[in-house]
Amino acid sequence: MQRDTRQRRAMRRVFMSAGRPLTPEEILEHGQQIVPSLGLATVYRYVKTLTADAWLAEVELPGGGVRYELAERPHHHHFLCRSCDQAFDVHRCPDEIEELAPDGFQVDSHELILYGRCAACA
Ligand SMILES: [Zn+2]
Ligand SMILES: [Zn+2]
Repeated sequence: MQRDTRQRRAMRRVFMSAGRPLTPEEILEHGQQIVPSLGLATVYRYVKTLTADAWLAEVELPGGGVRYELAERPHHHHFLCRSCDQAFDVHRCPDEIEELAPDGFQVDSHELILYGRCAACA
């Protein structure tokens, strides 16, 4: 029980410090630096629990597996690096995106995914 609490806290720290969507494997990688005994089965279990708690949200990017990020964050988009397969947050929106819609249509939300190479891979 004690260990469970510690690992759950480690999961929180991983997401707080990463600041980008993480795959379960990436969660494991970062988490093991805090709790070396952390295993992938535990990561999957916590991801499931924390998603059900609406503390984590699923991020599904076409061409990538399911990633997770902290829920209830401000509006943002994602960048998927084709080279290292890491996802990053994008905090800007295109200007005047409403003008893309046909005349007479009203836009109330949008989604956007950027693909390319991250700074480390470019
Ligand atoms: Zn990259
Ligand atoms: Zn936007």
